[in-house]
Amino acid sequence: TTFRVAVRPVEMRSGAGVLVSFEDVTHAEQLVQMRRDFVANVSHELKTPLTALIGFIETLKGPARNDPVGQARFLNIMEAEAHRMNRLVSDLLSLSRVEADERVRPTERIDLGASILATISGLSPLAQEADVTLVHDLPDAQVVVPADRDQLHQVLTNLIENAIKYCGKGTTVTVRLGAPDYAPGLRAQAATLIIQDNGPGIDPIHLPRLTERFYRIDTHRSREMGGTGLGLAIVKHIVNRHRGRLKIQSEQGAGTRFTITLPVS
Ligand code: ADP
Repeated sequence: TTFRVAVRPVEMRSGAGVLVSFEDVTHAEQLVQMRRDFVANVSHELKTPLTALIGFIETLKGPARNDPVGQARFLNIMEAEAHRMNRLVSDLLSLSRVEADERVRPTERIDLGASILATISGLSPLAQEADVTLVHDLPDAQVVVPADRDQLHQVLTNLIENAIKYCGKGTTVTVRLGAPDYAPGLRAQAATLIIQDNGPGIDPIHLPRLTERFYRIDTHRSREMGGTGLGLAIVKHIVNRHRGRLKIQSEQGAGTRFTITLPVS
């Protein structure tokens, strides 16, 4: 705990006195520290591809000037690095946008089943390429929630894409929608959305920190897969903005399950 202590002279009936005040600034200090860490992380994440780009430009201008095969290879790497920076900037913008309007509740009426089907069909080429099977299980009746269409799409995309990226060949990702019910901890009826995979799972020690910005289990693997480390942080903020809940359960060797409950009104 951090206190800010102020001492101020005051006039009292019995003569001169001092007023000593203690203010608990722990939370404010934590916010300042978080902001500092965030800026340091962003700078580092941007600097890594930038350093690579500068290195390759120098090589192209110098040693590889007359080497067309090398040039083609370096240009491909440079393209991948530039795409990485682009994804990072897009994710940073998404994050800052959802954080900025976290207090404004979404009002558009969204058919969750239709949203799921649209997202799955958009991601099926990626799944096919990775040899991952996408399965859905939707109730007969329509499930409609107040939501922001683009943000809901982003939540589904981030979670399904992660499952495809981190589970690999021969695995199955199931997206299940439950009809509205009274969920524990929520007073209003809520729809339940489950994204479950049967991949390698996540060691439970990582679960509490998984939605922190830039938290990754294996930084090298995440980078290789084109990850920015911001996907789950974005998901958490969007779910918060919808007054929903996000629960992550995982067992090593058995897969991971993300459960989202979204109030229906
Ligand atoms: P990234 O951009 O690295 O994918 P995320 O915030 O989306 O960042 O995810 C954070 C980390 O959580 C990932 O780096 C990965 O290690 C782990 N992860 C996310 N989803 C899964 C999953 N379905 N199975 C295994 N690990 C996962």
